[in-house]
Amino acid sequence: ITFSLSMIGEVAQGISSIFEGAIYINDYYDFINQEEEKLNAYLNNPLIFKKEIKVENLSFQYPHSDRKTLDNISFKIKCGEKIAIVGKNGAGKSTLINCIIGLYKTTEGKILYDGVHINQINPLYLRKKISAIFQDFVRYQLSIRKNICISDIENIDNDEKINRVVKETDINSLIEKLIHGYETELGTAFSGGQELSGGQWQKIGLTRALFKESEIIILDEPTAALDPIAESDILSKFIKSTKDKTSIFITHRLGICKEVDRIIVLDNGRLIEQGNHNELMALKGEYASMFKSQSDWYH
Ligand code: ADP
Repeated sequence: ITFSLSMIGEVAQGISSIFEGAIYINDYYDFINQEEEKLNAYLNNPLIFKKEIKVENLSFQYPHSDRKTLDNISFKIKCGEKIAIVGKNGAGKSTLINCIIGLYKTTEGKILYDGVHINQINPLYLRKKISAIFQDFVRYQLSIRKNICISDIENIDNDEKINRVVKETDINSLIEKLIHGYETELGTAFSGGQELSGGQWQKIGLTRALFKESEIIILDEPTAALDPIAESDILSKFIKSTKDKTSIFITHRLGICKEVDRIIVLDNGRLIEQGNHNELMALKGEYASMFKSQSDWYH
């Protein structure tokens, strides 16, 4: 299997602009290619992640911004734990995720993986451990197979693995209906490819995240185009099929928070509450009021 060189070139350009502070993020994350000499600057031990990710007094300020987007945030994510990060638009959720996965360098404070500072971890090891799917994940005009396997190209011919993951995201029923199955080229009617709805694309994105089989899964609202019921169905299923993994979800749909171990509530760059659904409801604070207004909205 070959991916065109020009595509990889574009990806590499996208990545260098991220590091220069231009903020355009998506699952290019999987493709970042570091030059040898840069990698040699890092500890070369493979990252072992057995205990926790620790965020310690983390602050972050965008270049040219006059305020901190994240302000002195501390919390831990234990290995295997499922965390939801919630808060209003602009609260800092995506920024926090981008710091945790190493796409943004923190301004102050630390992010430690089993006690090792993120700046000392070889980014290639970090990327192997983490599968991140963002809202604007890339919709490649390639076959369904390539769209799913792009994060683990070595396994592109492993039909048993593909068959398993497509069931977990319910995209199997669509693929079975297509004459060319996994080989169906995706795109637009104009480009000659098969068109998918926003929701179907999002399932492809989740399937891609599962296919990578990394230990840490990060979802930054990749299911926002689904209707609320379809979204909670698919997220619930996703949570079950990744039950041994460490996961961080950003979501606006608070129903799903009942299924996670802990909820982190951000407001204006600060961590204002954390606990499980019942604890935060009992607290009658920001989470409880957000949850209540959302339940009123849907019922
Ligand atoms: P959330 O994910 O909770 O909606 P974000 O992390 O996307 O919040 O954004 C938090 C704050 O940071 C917002 O006020 C937003 O305007 C600001 N912000 C986001 N990206 C940039 C950027 N590239 N440059 C400057 N400010 C930014």
